[in-house]
Amino acid sequence: MRLHWHRRDLRVTDNPPLAGDNRLLPVFVHDPEILTYGAPPVVSFLLDALDSLRERYRERGGELLLARGDPSAVLPELAAACDADAVTWNRDYSGLASERDRAVVAALSGAGVSVGVERFGGTLLHEPEHITTSDGNHYSVFSDFWREWRDREKAAPVAAPVRGDVVDPRDSLDEEWLGEVSETAGPLPSLAELGFDEPEADVQPAGTDAAHDLLADFREDTIYRYGDDREYPARESTSRLSPHLKFGTVGVRTVWNATEDAAAAASDEDALESVEVFRRQLAWREFYAHILDARPDVVTENYREYPSEIQWRDDPEELQAWKDGETGYPLVDAGMRQLRAEAWVHNRVRMVAASFLTKDLLINWREGYDWYRRKLVDHDTAHAAGGWQWAASTGTNAQPYFRVFNPATQCEKYDPDGEYVREYVPELRDAPTDAIHEWPTLDDETRAAIAPDYPAPIVDHDERRVRAIAAFEAARSDD
Ligand SMILES: Cc1cc2nc3c(=O)[nH]c(=O)nc-3n(C[C@H](O)[C@H](O)[C@H](O)COP(=O)(O)OP(=O)(O)OC[C@H]3O[C@@H](n4cnc5c(N)ncnc54)[C@H](O)[C@@H]3O)c2cc1C
Repeated sequence: MRLHWHRRDLRVTDNPPLAGDNRLLPVFVHDPEILTYGAPPVVSFLLDALDSLRERYRERGGELLLARGDPSAVLPELAAACDADAVTWNRDYSGLASERDRAVVAALSGAGVSVGVERFGGTLLHEPEHITTSDGNHYSVFSDFWREWRDREKAAPVAAPVRGDVVDPRDSLDEEWLGEVSETAGPLPSLAELGFDEPEADVQPAGTDAAHDLLADFREDTIYRYGDDREYPARESTSRLSPHLKFGTVGVRTVWNATEDAAAAASDEDALESVEVFRRQLAWREFYAHILDARPDVVTENYREYPSEIQWRDDPEELQAWKDGETGYPLVDAGMRQLRAEAWVHNRVRMVAASFLTKDLLINWREGYDWYRRKLVDHDTAHAAGGWQWAASTGTNAQPYFRVFNPATQCEKYDPDGEYVREYVPELRDAPTDAIHEWPTLDDETRAAIAPDYPAPIVDHDERRVRAIAAFEAARSDD
């Protein structure tokens, strides 16, 4: 029998370690240390996803074993108790995950349990060691990575285990052990039991059915307008698959397969090109995962060092206005309010809000990373570090420090009718579109007449842009 340790692969289909012939006992371990990095939206999504995974196993006559504790203590005990001859899991790429994996391997080999360990690559289409530069390093330029990644053959999804492949732990473990370590048959722990409040946001549904429904709709229709529409937040043209890819409620091979079906059914060159634009985003996902694997410190340290320290500002009031969506820059505020309402934000708006924090306010990207970590349902160490360091001009392939987004012109360009802003900023619901775009430069009297409850801009963008460039230029010099 083999024990499969589910982590961020909460699915049965397209999950390579589940495909072997040895009978399978699946387990998920609530690890208190990992939970300290959690937040209400992600943990709420996780619990729903576990509920769905448990159902998938029950349909197959099995049961997902749920344990709580340090995996390097729980897994050897469990492997011994069920007489497993192998323990499998899918790789994860953060420093914390790698450290935990090493501890579990050491514990399994030190526990006198005769058990093989096999790690699979079910999270990405291509593992970091398979896409490297000629000198064996990770790519730091996305366009080079993309060419290499795109042209590689992709593995097909594997089928789900069937009834008979999956063991019911109640048949394999004694009552005492089950009672002590598992909560298998009972309800899942609540958010409160795990130490979290209910999320402030209305979190999107988790589970494999929700993921497959989203993917099917996207593949049928939206993917063909993705290329043209994806930068416009009001057009709702992106897949919203990010939390599902984060928790593996859909496998990335399944998503890739859907792009192949969409490409085969594309009606013309433009439709085909749109599918390719979406595939590039899947490549960005892997690019950042490879970077995290090579440089686990990107979560806290600048990927690209400047000769001198960047002199970030400490300004709690401006930081709070940013968090609250009260900066007086409508696109930034709409994004920060979407974050609170839905635990998700459109990518263009994430970029603009991140630029506003790190350039206009000159506040350390780590503050933004931490706020997004607490509020996003799709928080993912690799992409968050990649996105934040891109905006802060400290990352690989980052926005050059002298190119500072103008949040008003970004609003005009990507929300031309003001539709997105009106949806999330009710104070501007009745404002004319021009007033939304020109809000930061209107005079006080006009602003008071149009939307008396919406704030005036907290900073002057032109002045702040000059100051940000000067701060980065100072950091570039080594005196
Ligand atoms: C400051 C900042 C922070 C971010 N933090 C996260 C995060 O914590 N978690 C996260 O999943 N994404 C993050 N992103 C990337 C991106 O915003 C989201 O992946 C995207 O908005 C998710 O929506 P979607 O699923 O509809 O994406 P789609 O446009 O449908 O893209 C499909 C998938 O490709 C991947 N993808 C798309 N864009 C990117 C990107 N720029 N980088 C890496 N992968 C990408 C995601 O897995 C996404 O689900 C961040 C971006 C920025 C600028």
